[in-house]
Amino acid sequence: MMKWTEVAPQNWQNWHWQLKNRLNSIEDLEDIIQLSPEEREGLGAPHHFRVDITPYFAQLMDPTDLNCPIRRQVIPLGRELQPFEGMMADSLAEEAQSPVPGIVHRYPDRVLMLVTTHCASYCRYCTRSRIVGDFQATPSLNDLAAQIDYLRQHPEIRDVLISGGDPLTLSDVTLGHLLKALRGIEHIEIVRIGSRVPIFLPQRITPELCQLLRQFHPLWINIHTNHPREITDEVAVALARLADAGIPLGNQTVLLANINDSVEVQRQLVHNLVKHRVRPYYLYQCDLVAGAGHFRTTIAKGVEIISKLQGYTSGYAIPKYVVDAPGGGGKVVVAPQTILAQRPNHRIVLKTYTGETAIYQEPADY
Ligand SMILES: *Cc1c(COP(=O)(O)O)cnc(C)c1O
Ligand code: SF4
Repeated sequence: MMKWTEVAPQNWQNWHWQLKNRLNSIEDLEDIIQLSPEEREGLGAPHHFRVDITPYFAQLMDPTDLNCPIRRQVIPLGRELQPFEGMMADSLAEEAQSPVPGIVHRYPDRVLMLVTTHCASYCRYCTRSRIVGDFQATPSLNDLAAQIDYLRQHPEIRDVLISGGDPLTLSDVTLGHLLKALRGIEHIEIVRIGSRVPIFLPQRITPELCQLLRQFHPLWINIHTNHPREITDEVAVALARLADAGIPLGNQTVLLANINDSVEVQRQLVHNLVKHRVRPYYLYQCDLVAGAGHFRTTIAKGVEIISKLQGYTSGYAIPKYVVDAPGGGGKVVVAPQTILAQRPNHRIVLKTYTGETAIYQEPADY
């Protein structure tokens, strides 16, 4: 891309440089891609959700293809602002399930801990767009201390999922303090970080960061990848560093219309992920959040994708397809129907991956 040829490699590799030079206006973007009228409308509108794209991620965009899956995830369209049936600002009722600001306590033994509202780039369909990208809403050190206090006072919590925003946009020093505080709480068995930084800003995954993270095991990281084109050579280096630091890696994907709503794209994506030691974890149905209307698919589409992966590829490569229940009920696993019938005499009729039937004879005396 013309614009970037003069950037010194040491700048390009520097994650602070990448953040400082993010693109967010029509002027920035028309330098590197041909903007469509609808993209101009989206960028020109007083959009409710922040736009910011790292130069690294921006150079992956196709300059002429409006359907480029990279481009569609980060550049707003005019129709983003259109309301739709069922739309909610906080479709997962996170605010209602928040005992202290930033903690979402929905399940008995684990919590979500929102530590920042900053991300490296902003996904147009973000489920938390009500706060993400709003720097006024970012938790203060006092808020973080109150979150830690809550965890300390709740011995039933054995698993903490650090998210945001993107926790890996925090400095090494802040992350170190946070992880140390969590590790100081005896009943917290595992800590996980949810981050899209390895995809948007792989330069952030420095050897120093990995050296820091590995001190806090058992630490798991879930990345967020939607399309095989996101897994570049730079991302491969970042993922190898994390995996070599002993961090089990998972991936979550959001099912997005015209971006990854096909078996072929999903298959390439999961194969790419396992090659890089990342285990596909969840495929999410797109939430009913403002801004995401034009990204939504039917639930049948997700079921179809799973049914065409199961049996056709390694079990390791197949995520669970989940719908995060509107209203805050938690994730609901949706899977293809495989029990076809229960026949007399304890005979269960099952459907195989090719669509044939098989009979499993159950014990009569269990
Ligand atoms: C997704 C989520 C978790 C973690 O759920 P797992 O199914 O264990 O990965 C925890 N708390 C909240 C509020 C969540 O949304
Ligand atoms: S990285 Fe995650 S939190 Fe940030 S904008 Fe994307 S979906 Fe939202």
